[in-house]
Amino acid sequence: MVVGPVAALGDGVTDYAVGDRVGVAWLRHTDGTCAYCRRGNENLCPNSLYTGWDADGGYAEYTTVPAAFAYRLLCAGIIGYRALLRASLPARGRLGLYGFGDSAHLVAQVALAQGATVHALTRGEASQRLALELGAASAGGAYDSPPEPLDSAILFAPVGDLVPVAMRALDRGGVLAVAGIHLTDIPPLNYEHEPSVLAVGKIAALGQQVLGLALQHASTNAFLRGLTVGSLVAGAVAAAGALLAVLFLPSQPAQLAQLTRPARPAHQPTQAAAQTAAATAD
Ligand SMILES: [Zn+2]
Repeated sequence: MVVGPVAALGDGVTDYAVGDRVGVAWLRHTDGTCAYCRRGNENLCPNSLYTGWDADGGYAEYTTVPAAFAYRLLCAGIIGYRALLRASLPARGRLGLYGFGDSAHLVAQVALAQGATVHALTRGEASQRLALELGAASAGGAYDSPPEPLDSAILFAPVGDLVPVAMRALDRGGVLAVAGIHLTDIPPLNYEHEPSVLAVGKIAALGQQVLGLALQHASTNAFLRGLTVGSLVAGAVAAAGALLAVLFLPSQPAQLAQLTRPARPAHQPTQAAAQTAAATAD
């Protein structure tokens, strides 16, 4: 990415003035006409062009960029905001941020300004201090439990092991958004041993719609895994399809049906899970 003042404007550019501070991102062109562009996923455009790859980058005194791909807000802010939207944080909700770097510290300020309670879960002491200085209600280690159940969580740390950790920290109906260019493998999620994940039904409103579709097609016994790739406006992570909202759906129709039944009270293990625990104790 490149950041600097506008030195000159091309013909017809009206959104910027000479001297404006702008950023040039990785993504510098999309066709605007393909199916992906038309549905708002321009980061998936097969005809995209990239700064430093298809055009000269920022290791120079001056650089050029199409005005439509010059930004006042770059990746960290845009990805973070997109992740916050994906996390479906309710009004004045409880938000957990796993990892507290550039993006998360911007999201935290947006969420706090909207009245949310923010809990930072990150390993770095400096990051924890920063979170508290910005107004987070708590700051602890990434594998620690937050002091209260979360309505929403965003995983910024590129650590798949934290996916089940974050999911267990969610309250009923909570949503986990996974935001990152890269994520290590997500460990298998065992539904019998993860009653707080399964029975409590931590699936987004979108997931409920998907479940309805899944039930309609359950006779095919198809394995359904919802993995939606969010769109990005800015580009450093565009090629990687940077923002993922992960919906975990069971593989069997019976399990699908179970998810659509009324949820048990929070933190009450399923019978199957209780039996498993008893057997293990023996
Ligand atoms: Zn396109």
